[in-house]
Amino acid sequence: PEAITVAELANRMAERVADVVKSLMQSGIMATQNQTIDADTAELIIEEFGHKVVRVSDSDVEDVIASVEDKDEDLQPRPPVITIMGHVDHGKTSLLDAIRQTSVTSGEAGGITQHIGAYQVTTKDGQVLSFLDTPGHAAFTSMRSRGAQVTDIVVLVVAADDAVMPQTVEAISHAKAAGVPMIVAINKVDKPSANPTKVRTDLLQHEVIVEEMSGEVQDVEVSAHTGQGLDQLLEAIALQAEILELKANPNRAAEGAVIEAQLDVGRGPVATVLVQKGTLKQGDIFVVGEQYGKVRALINDKGERVSEAGPSVPVEVLGLNGTPEAGDVLNVTATEAQAREIAEYRAHAAKEKRAAAGAATTLDQLLQKA
Ligand code: GDP
Ligand code: MG
Repeated sequence: PEAITVAELANRMAERVADVVKSLMQSGIMATQNQTIDADTAELIIEEFGHKVVRVSDSDVEDVIASVEDKDEDLQPRPPVITIMGHVDHGKTSLLDAIRQTSVTSGEAGGITQHIGAYQVTTKDGQVLSFLDTPGHAAFTSMRSRGAQVTDIVVLVVAADDAVMPQTVEAISHAKAAGVPMIVAINKVDKPSANPTKVRTDLLQHEVIVEEMSGEVQDVEVSAHTGQGLDQLLEAIALQAEILELKANPNRAAEGAVIEAQLDVGRGPVATVLVQKGTLKQGDIFVVGEQYGKVRALINDKGERVSEAGPSVPVEVLGLNGTPEAGDVLNVTATEAQAREIAEYRAHAAKEKRAAAGAATTLDQLLQKA
């Protein structure tokens, strides 16, 4: 199965395609630039050109970044990661802002501006909670399809004056598909037109049975505007987190998921990463999706430089060679060569997959025409 096209081989060696074709011919192999040759043949040619052979396969990649099985005694409690979902305009952003305000101590007030799409709060009881800015349902789905399970608890926001709407239903099915427990926040109860009972009965039709209806899903009436019910919501989250017994080993090579990433004019590629295992440190070498790098700086949700970030902590990571995608997994590796090889291997595999998909279509089209 390991094969490479002549053109790609030439490209990777930075040699002219014609020279590679000629060298193949001298070895008795007639191949045009788009034909594939097997790995052994490629190796011969590479050596012929005086280059070094570095083979990376799927299993090598897995070996390098193999999730080290953490022993029970190495696991320590970690903060829950909460995503707020719900229909547009039902108050997701307002609720996130209100939660941040209530947990900000008076000394900090005003000094807190959110820098990244995620933040941590400490409740009055001293519990730390990590909130992800709702990434949008599409992003949530794409992250899950990339294998990144980033959230432990979904807070489903439903406006009491609007009840269950299409994106509410979508959010319910995302949470169910991901197997993530839900807490219902019935928002805007300060409004005269608010009808929390309608929200609860609407939810019944989607098999979400809240505690008020003798079900098991916690429901809390809140107002992002007046602050009503926010403490109860945080308590509900804390209770749910306790039930989940969330743990991670902070003392290992870090693994995390990209929440968002962009190319910053001044700072280069920047990724917001939610650390899920281990502790990410300044100077760590890592591979993330098809990119790699060395942590040049870590910046927390308050915009401060930090030297490390442990499980459930969201941080901005600087020092990437390119911009990864939301949902890409970050793994710390032992050496830069490993990180680069894995990134290049993945980029190459993705390119081949696209090419194969393209070739199949062309063949289909040809057959249809024939
Ligand atoms: P999102 O689209 O879900 O993020 O919703 P927003 O947070 O942007 O809120 C949509 C609108 O609802 C804004 O005009 C908010 O001011 C308003 N809103 C949000 N929460 C409340 C609330 O608790 N009470 C009232 N009366 N209005 C709210
Ligand atoms: Mg919003």
